[in-house]
Amino acid sequence: MTAPFPTGTILGYPRIGRRRELKRAVEAYWAGRIDAAELEGTAAELRHVTRERLVSLGLGRDDSSIPESFSYYDQVLDAAVTVGAVPTRFADLVDADGAVDLAGYFTIARGEGDRAPLEMTKWFDSNYHYLVPEIGPETEFRLAGDRLVREVEEAAAAGYVTRPVIVGPVTFLLLAKPSDEAPAGFAPLSRLEDLLPVYRELLARLAAAGAQWVQLDEPALVSESLETPRGEVLAAAQTAYGSLGAGRPLGILVAAPYGSLDDALPVLEQAPIDAIALDLVKGAVPTRPATDKVLVGGVIDGHNIWRGDLEAAFEKLGKLAALTPQVAVATSTNLFHTPHDVADEPELSAQLKTWLAFADQKVGQVATLARGLREGKTAIQAELDAASAALEDRSTAPGVRDGAVRSRVAGLDASAFSRGDYATRRAEQDVALRLPPLPTTTIGSFPQTGDIRRERARQAKGEITEAEYEEFLKLQIRDVVALQERIGLDVLVHGEPERNDMVQYFAENLDGFAVTQNGWVQSYGSRATRPSILWGDVSRPAPITVRWSTFTQSLTDKPVKGMLTGPVTILAWSFVRDDQPLADTAYQVALALRDEIADLEAAGIGVIQVDEPALRELLPLKKRDQAAYLDWSVNSFKLATSGVKNRTQIHTHLCYSEFGVVLDAIDGLDADVTSIEAARSRMEVVPELERSGFGRGIGPGVYDIHSPRVPSVEEVQELIGTALSSIPERQLWINPDCGLKTRGYDETVASLENILSATREARAAL
Ligand code: GLN
Ligand code: ZN
Repeated sequence: MTAPFPTGTILGYPRIGRRRELKRAVEAYWAGRIDAAELEGTAAELRHVTRERLVSLGLGRDDSSIPESFSYYDQVLDAAVTVGAVPTRFADLVDADGAVDLAGYFTIARGEGDRAPLEMTKWFDSNYHYLVPEIGPETEFRLAGDRLVREVEEAAAAGYVTRPVIVGPVTFLLLAKPSDEAPAGFAPLSRLEDLLPVYRELLARLAAAGAQWVQLDEPALVSESLETPRGEVLAAAQTAYGSLGAGRPLGILVAAPYGSLDDALPVLEQAPIDAIALDLVKGAVPTRPATDKVLVGGVIDGHNIWRGDLEAAFEKLGKLAALTPQVAVATSTNLFHTPHDVADEPELSAQLKTWLAFADQKVGQVATLARGLREGKTAIQAELDAASAALEDRSTAPGVRDGAVRSRVAGLDASAFSRGDYATRRAEQDVALRLPPLPTTTIGSFPQTGDIRRERARQAKGEITEAEYEEFLKLQIRDVVALQERIGLDVLVHGEPERNDMVQYFAENLDGFAVTQNGWVQSYGSRATRPSILWGDVSRPAPITVRWSTFTQSLTDKPVKGMLTGPVTILAWSFVRDDQPLADTAYQVALALRDEIADLEAAGIGVIQVDEPALRELLPLKKRDQAAYLDWSVNSFKLATSGVKNRTQIHTHLCYSEFGVVLDAIDGLDADVTSIEAARSRMEVVPELERSGFGRGIGPGVYDIHSPRVPSVEEVQELIGTALSSIPERQLWINPDCGLKTRGYDETVASLENILSATREARAAL
């Protein structure tokens, strides 16, 4: 007999700590400053504080409403080590029972010497990155990790009954890639039958440890961006849950965040499980099938920071009640996409704060709606009204809707979105820029040294004046220009020393954004970002980058490339208002950038790069939504960049090389030059570009900046040779994979010198 499911829960809670305590402890452990026992102590304390806090926010101590969702690094890696899926190159880290210790766990995550770590890639349509499991016929699945079991025991010892959370078997295998040993065409999903007994054993252990419910996360069931055909995905879900559900020792909740389940919902409904969590923020309330399972309505947005419309959320739960006798309320996703607490933001305006809900506030909202489900709507009417009043205030507050911005967007016609034909542009640019064949450039940033970070911090604390800080930055720029001239690069950059972050820098200089102090969100492992909040209509009160670019141009006769972040990337890496379509917001950002570009051009900057590394990241998971997305995202880039003269050369930069469905979109950006990542994959992308007939400038990276390794001249020559075998010489640019900000100066200089030597030889051979 299954214990009742709690009326309110969250699918997961941030695990990095309110002050990034986990990051600090993990990095101290890596640096050898603390030992594993001390790290484990910090982590246990963090879990303890989290459980206490969740109770104080309104979740139940012993009703399985508190998720046990901690991770030292990544939840997919956790699942891999739990089921013994460790690649053979790490076999020495595995003990006789198949287990790895904490040191081994981090080695798999981060690599060691020439043992590559697991590959890292984006988690569904979020900016979180997970580690990709490697599965082959040789993978020996067994219950090798019991950390989740121990955490349930730890909670039980402290008087809690919590709900352990783990990535479900179908998603785990669908996200995996074939191991090095796997034969061509091997599909990790073919190992499902071998994996299920391990999950079954895990469920038994969790139940024995005191868990009454388990949450299996199956976001892959909502995605249409998988390579595996949908029919196979559904069949796998049917097999997995038919098997795990039979004779289950505890209640099974299958959670499907990030979108609607569509045809997977009836499959889960038929399976012998007990509850299904639906994302009712991304997906609509389904109208069938009727079921006796608990339907957990994810009506509180776990992926954004708005307080939102609580009344509407409660109504959705009412509609869901038409399908089942048992409705519960939850967040739409794990809350690890949101920062901890609005109350931790002393510098945000009091008004803005009433519109926001970070993780802790969202837990409170869940608790409120749960009370409404139990006691009826009148019991929570005051809270619903307060949220509605905040929403009303938000819709009418100054800055949220700016008439001038809106009429400018409304007045756009097709001419604002396109430039002249490329051949004419190219001819005028050739005359204006007089570049050699195979022109060389970098992607923008130069190393962000300790010096730069220190001076920025001193300026923020008021220890040096604004003027002193500017003088310091100008010195940096002088050095970077002199270095590029000495090395012989053709199109120079200023090195971006004034930018803390490529999005936050623009957010700080545009109207409509607010910046948080403690709003950290895990991006991967121990890394966190602090997204800005885009809350109002966006406009540019004053030029942002122009004086830096013109100062730089004053130092050299070579063309200097102005450097901006594109509208899609600014949206992707911020918390964006949810009260209008993303496209409308993107066009506003694009117009602000268009003004900046016009000012750069008028100030004599002849080359301008607009980075869009996140173009692919925002691609919707559902095929039916992709065309509309690609349309507005491409158009927002074109809106930003189409105001320039033919002779002004527009560059763009993308941080990946697997283009797939976005290849046409990248062509559609109509940039004069596009730089992409290519060194790590040894120019794999190049034949694809050739087939696509990409006809403008293209700079496939010849230097993998993710590694401290200096590529040799021969290596770069070889990459250039490969590129030239598919790309006409007239189109080819030579550049690194990405910005140099994470690199040190020694390796940067050596690498750029080698790139230039290789380029000179390639030119001589043309
Ligand atoms: N211009 C940026 C830089 O060089 C681009 C960074 C990126 O693509 N992520 O740092
Ligand atoms: Zn990049």
